[in-house]
Order: sequence, then structure tokens, then C-alpha cells
Amino acid sequence: MNRREWMTLGAASLAMPAGETQTGPAPQQPGLPIEQYQPKSMLHVPETHVPRSRYPVIDFHTHITGGSGGRIQFSMDPANCLAVMDRKNIRTMVDLTGGYGDGLREAIARLSAAHPGRFAVFTEPAWTKASDPGYPKAQADLIEDAHRAGAQGLKILKTLGLYLRERETNQLVRIDDPRFDPMWEAAGALKMPVAIHISDPEAFFLPIDRFNERWEELHAHPSWSFHGRDFPANRELQEARRNVMRRHPRTQFVCLHVADSEDLPYVSESLDSHPNMHVDIAARIGELGRQPRMSRKFFDKYQDRIVFGTDASSSPGTPQQLFGDALYEIYYRFLETEDEYFDYAPAPIPPQGRWRIYGIGLAEPVLRKVYWDNAARLIGLAGSAAAAPAMPPSDRGPL
Ligand SMILES: [Zn+2]
Repeated sequence: MNRREWMTLGAASLAMPAGETQTGPAPQQPGLPIEQYQPKSMLHVPETHVPRSRYPVIDFHTHITGGSGGRIQFSMDPANCLAVMDRKNIRTMVDLTGGYGDGLREAIARLSAAHPGRFAVFTEPAWTKASDPGYPKAQADLIEDAHRAGAQGLKILKTLGLYLRERETNQLVRIDDPRFDPMWEAAGALKMPVAIHISDPEAFFLPIDRFNERWEELHAHPSWSFHGRDFPANRELQEARRNVMRRHPRTQFVCLHVADSEDLPYVSESLDSHPNMHVDIAARIGELGRQPRMSRKFFDKYQDRIVFGTDASSSPGTPQQLFGDALYEIYYRFLETEDEYFDYAPAPIPPQGRWRIYGIGLAEPVLRKVYWDNAARLIGLAGSAAAAPAMPPSDRGPL
């Protein structure tokens, strides 16, 4: 059976529950395609609705624009973003994928320039030029140009490490390749934080077989697999990023998706050894929320180094990132309550794996830092959430 065929569950293969006596042959049930299986939890546990965050929020990780080669398209309407932001207590959205050149200028004109304080726009490297002679200096110059245009940070997609190849040899370009050193230094000198995504869940590097805990996610998105071929291992990518952080101590790095959300001991060790490292939590509450005790300790210990982010985009194919009220309410519930066993995405079937999550009920000072203070410091936004009144608990639904 290959992975494109349905995985089925058959009642005939299930054991009788303990304590029951069987008086005749078990009734045969037809198989059920796993895609149709939507078990409902029978737990009677508190369900808290958190319509607004306790403190004002900076969503450090969104994709309002996207594109390549210096051109961008808007995938979300800024007016619609503002309406959701106002309802959900989001003061600022960071559009990470602002491109460079004319595309970047357009993004800034329609976002951060048109709505000061409500949006921040990051620039991206000109990857298509990475094999050109003179690229290292030209790329550093482009960062300066982006800063002059109003960009507030630099975004590195996992293009670097997993897709970007040498024009001549087709070899993957290493994350710690020295040609990027002037770019990392320019970002540091200009106080532009580097939001850097490398690697992906470990299961994406493993065979897509019956042992793969993300079988359904990879089945839905086969191109997300990095198993086989010439891809480096997850740990090799992580270590290459650490080399970069070590070589550029003046530059602040925000390792996106908790750096490696499935291995918090490794992330903790990395944070301990790299004072210029931070993490965001975008698109990883499904991981953090299934290890709630370890996550809570992680937030408490690294409360000055964690920023709120969602990876919000307009794509319905990834409901765990679909921009809208429902997405933010799940994040707030995870961070603010101790609710048990709830969905990490607004979807009938958990899209990244069939598990549910537990709230970690962060203390108020920690929430304030994660929602606002840490990101505000990184991107140079004035003001502190401490000055803003917290939402009274009575407005937040049952506690
Ligand atoms: Zn993203």
C-alpha cells in the first residue's frame, strides 16, 4: 500500500474494551477513510472564549504581501487587516515578506507609511542575484536601501538552506555561507532584526510512511517533504544558523517557529549560548500546546526572548495560519488560559497532526512581554504595553 492510498480504520481490528464479555462474533463495520474520521471529544472541561488579548499585541509574523524578484502582490487587504486588528486588540502587524526595491516601497507606502504604527514591513534578500559576482556587497547595499525606504527588519525564508542553489553547480547554498556576512552585519548595524526561518518539523525529513506523525499533513502537501535527495538534516540546518548567530553577535536574530518547537531542550541550550537569539511562536502552538508543562517553563525562563506571531496568511489550505478572528482567539486561549484539550487550528480535523492542545496560563508580566514588549524593543516601536490598560477579566468570558 502506498501513501496515496487511504489509510483505513476497521472495527474488526479493535480489541473488546476491558470488562466487557463477548457473547457472539463482533459485528463487522465497514472501514472508514481516515480523512472522514472526526472524533468529538467527550471531555467535560472548561471552555474559555478569549475574544481580545489581555494586553495589546504585536503580531510579529504575518504575510500581507509576497512575491519575488523585487515585485510583490498583496494577498490581504490592509483595510480588512485593520478591522480584524481592532477587534482582536492587535496594535501592530509585521508584514515579513515585503521584498526589496520597488516592491518593498509599494508595501511600505500602503502599510506602514499609510497607517503609522499599525504596520511594520521587513525586507528580503535578492536571492536571484546570489550567484552574481559582487553579490555580498550589493546585498549589503540593498539592506541599506531598504532601511532608508523604511523597512524595519530583514526576513529570511527557508529558501536559504533548502531551495537556494548555485547557478552553475546546482548545489544547495549553505545558511552560513560567508557571502552573506556583509548582509548580516548591515542588518545589525542598522538595528534591523533578522527574522529567520530554516528547517521544518522533523517529520518532514523522514519517510512518509505509517510511522510518520504528520502523514496526513504531508499527504495533503507532498512538496513539504525534505526526505531524501540532497537535503541536509534538520540538525545540520539548525547548527548552520547557530554559526551565523555566533559570527554576528551585534545582529539580533528572531528564529521563527520557536527555532525547533519539537526540541525545546535544544532551543534552550541555543538561547543560553547565543544572547542575540530570540524566537517567535508562529504556527507552532500545535507543538507547544501538546507539551504544556515544558512550554510553560520555557516561557517563564525565556520571557524576554519570545515574541508573539501567527504566520497569518490568506491561504485556506493552511487553516492553522488563516488570518481572521478565530486564529487569534485560539492563540489567546493557549497563552492566557489553562483550558484543556482544544483545537490548535480553526479546522474540523487538526491539520498538522491528530492531537489537541492545552493552555499554559501565562502570568500577566510574561504575557505583556510576549504580546508586546519584546517585539517592540526589537523593531524599535515606541511605548510599552505596560502603559495600556489590561482587559478586565470580566470581558474575557468565563475564567
Ligand atoms: Zn511565515
